[in-house]
Amino acid sequence: MSDSPFANMHRMELWSTFAVYLLAGWSSVQIASRLEVTPKVYFSWGQAVREVVAEECPDLHQWWTTRHYRENLQPPEHIAAQQQAVVTWIETMLNAQHATCPRCGGTRTYRNKGVRPNFKCDPCVTCFSILSGTPLVGMIRPELWVDFVKEVMDGQSIPDLKRRSGLGMGGSTRWREQFLLLIEELGHPELLQWITWMRSRRNNEAVSFVRQGGYLDKATRSVYPQGTRKGRFVSQK
Ligand SMILES: [Zn+2]
Repeated sequence: MSDSPFANMHRMELWSTFAVYLLAGWSSVQIASRLEVTPKVYFSWGQAVREVVAEECPDLHQWWTTRHYRENLQPPEHIAAQQQAVVTWIETMLNAQHATCPRCGGTRTYRNKGVRPNFKCDPCVTCFSILSGTPLVGMIRPELWVDFVKEVMDGQSIPDLKRRSGLGMGGSTRWREQFLLLIEELGHPELLQWITWMRSRRNNEAVSFVRQGGYLDKATRSVYPQGTRKGRFVSQK
C-alpha cells in the first residue's frame, strides 16, 4: 500500500464506495455530504481513484474521462436506449392519428388540424388532447420539443437551451423542468442521473471554452415576435 496512490490516506472502509460514486458521475457536493468528507479529502481521494483506474483499467479511464470533460456525450447503451424511448414517446404522441375518447370511451374520434394532438369525439362531441395529464400539456411550440429534450438529455444549461431554442430564460427553465418530469414519469431514473452528471460538468466546460478564446453568444435569438418584450427589439436570425 505504501507506494500506491492511497498511501497515507485514512478511512479505508469508504474508498470503494467513494470510487463507485465518483465513477457514477456524482458531483463533489453529493459525494462529500453523503460520505461526510471534507473537500480536501474529496480532492485527494479523487486523484487517487483516477490514478488507480488509469493504471488498472485504461479503457474505463478513457471512457470516464471523456464523459467527465464532456468531450464525448455518447451515453452507455442502456441510457442511449432510454433517450431514444423519450424521443419516440414524444414523436408518437405528436403524430398520433387515433385516440380513445376519455368521456365515452369511444374510438370514433378525429384529429384536429395542427401540430398539437387534439381530437374530437364524434358521438359525444368532446374535444380532448392526448397530452392531458402529461407534463407537456399546455406547452407551446410542439415542433421544438424533440430538439429541446435532446439538449436537456445532453446536460445543457439553461442559457444553452435558451440559445438554441429561442425561448426566454423563464420558458427554457420551465420546459426543462417539464421534460425532466416527463422522463421521471416514463420511468428512466438512470437517464435522470446521467443528465445530472452531464449538467454538473457543463459550467466547467463553458468556462474552459471561453478561457481558451471561445465565444458564447448572448442567446438573443428569440421565438417570440419582435417588439413584444417590454419594448425591446430582439434580432431574429
Ligand atoms: Zn366521446
